[in-house]
Amino acid sequence: MIDFTFTQEQEDFRKQVADFTASKIAPKVKEMEQNKTADKEVVEAIKQAKLTGVFIPKEYGGLGLGYVARLIALEEIAKVSPGVSMMLQIFGLGIEPILKSGNDDQKQRYLPGLSSGEKLATVAVTETTGGSDPTGIETTYTKEGNYYILNGRKIMLTNAPVANTFVVLAKDPNNPKAFSTFIIEDNFEGFKRGKDWNEIGLHGCSVGEILLQNCKVPQENLLGEEGKGMRVAMSAIGEVGRGGMVGVGLGIISTLLEQSVNFSKKRILYGKPISNLQTIQNKLAQMKLDLEISRLLGYRAASMQDKGQRCDLEFAMAKYYTTEAAQKCAKMAVDIHGGYGVVEESIVTRFLRDSFVLGPSAGTSDIMMVIIARAAIG
Ligand SMILES: Cc1cc2nc3c(=O)[nH]c(=O)nc-3n(C[C@H](O)[C@H](O)[C@H](O)COP(=O)(O)OP(=O)(O)OC[C@H]3O[C@@H](n4cnc5c(N)ncnc54)[C@H](O)[C@@H]3O)c2cc1C
Repeated sequence: MIDFTFTQEQEDFRKQVADFTASKIAPKVKEMEQNKTADKEVVEAIKQAKLTGVFIPKEYGGLGLGYVARLIALEEIAKVSPGVSMMLQIFGLGIEPILKSGNDDQKQRYLPGLSSGEKLATVAVTETTGGSDPTGIETTYTKEGNYYILNGRKIMLTNAPVANTFVVLAKDPNNPKAFSTFIIEDNFEGFKRGKDWNEIGLHGCSVGEILLQNCKVPQENLLGEEGKGMRVAMSAIGEVGRGGMVGVGLGIISTLLEQSVNFSKKRILYGKPISNLQTIQNKLAQMKLDLEISRLLGYRAASMQDKGQRCDLEFAMAKYYTTEAAQKCAKMAVDIHGGYGVVEESIVTRFLRDSFVLGPSAGTSDIMMVIIARAAIG
């Protein structure tokens, strides 16, 4: 049996997050657009609502609601602020490797703090020499007594300016095939934050760098087996990372459609609303279709994840479709608004900028196509 409906608990949760977003995030959107960074009060509100721990099991202090609920939260928040949704999505991406690959001690030490928001996480893979190709990274680890010593620079990291817990991928300088993943706290010796990055959109979410200069990492902070860390990082990015981008994209498409429908019903030309024009209707129909297809792909993948099934291919397809559709829908929405669509303070212009920042995050569309083609070819 295939059931395409949300449970009552999921519907209630959606309403709860929508109310939270209206009261705690919507009033801060203008300020976040101006400051372009994460807002302290918004971060605090997210912690209070325990949204960082949506999918962390209750035994570790999380809400224990699973990955469909996580997608619901990200979609609802992104309807108002794709930037805040992106921030929350990457907090989750930093949690996943500890949840999935951490040992009991690591889970006990980190998950309760990550559930309450006392600890805020991110994943640090990207470097100047390694984005789509993570094997190109140059950050190294070596073992010295009870510590690993890490050296390198990680760039383009969502939440780097606000997070205190970093899941970092590094390589063994003596073995080009060996990569390991570590949990690094911002108070470890040799850890430094680098410069902030200014993206064209997704404001309300801060992006930055970290510098590891003989950073001393206790051996008990190695995540998974030494030399097998590529899998730890990539499986989290493949499911939770790409799933999160779907959530941000869904919120964007949903609001673009709503704004476009409202505008086209109110805008009178030739004595009639422009929603009567076939060209406008074609765009609205395409946006509605894109929203439905993206939702089906995204929630199917998340429900497979809740059942413990492998779903990296399903998330790659959902990520590709949703983030490409968000960009196309943003252009159509701007077009529908005529000259009103290109003034800086309009929502559709803001969402157009946001939609373009979605593309590379958690893997570009080209990389999604490589993954999908590989599955098709077998
Ligand atoms: C807003 C934002 C947030 C981010 N947050 C994080 C984060 O929290 N942590 C983190 O580690 N990283 C983060 N990233 C980095 C992100 O993962 C990389 O941008 C992404 O993996 C692409 O890498 P790149 O930017 O180096 O582009 P490149 O890898 O240099 O790609 C350049 C071009 O080549 C194409 N290309 C590359 N390989 C192939 C191929 N095999 N076939 C066809 N085309 C190909 C790409 O599609 C792209 O068009 C973030 C990026 C952005 C924009």
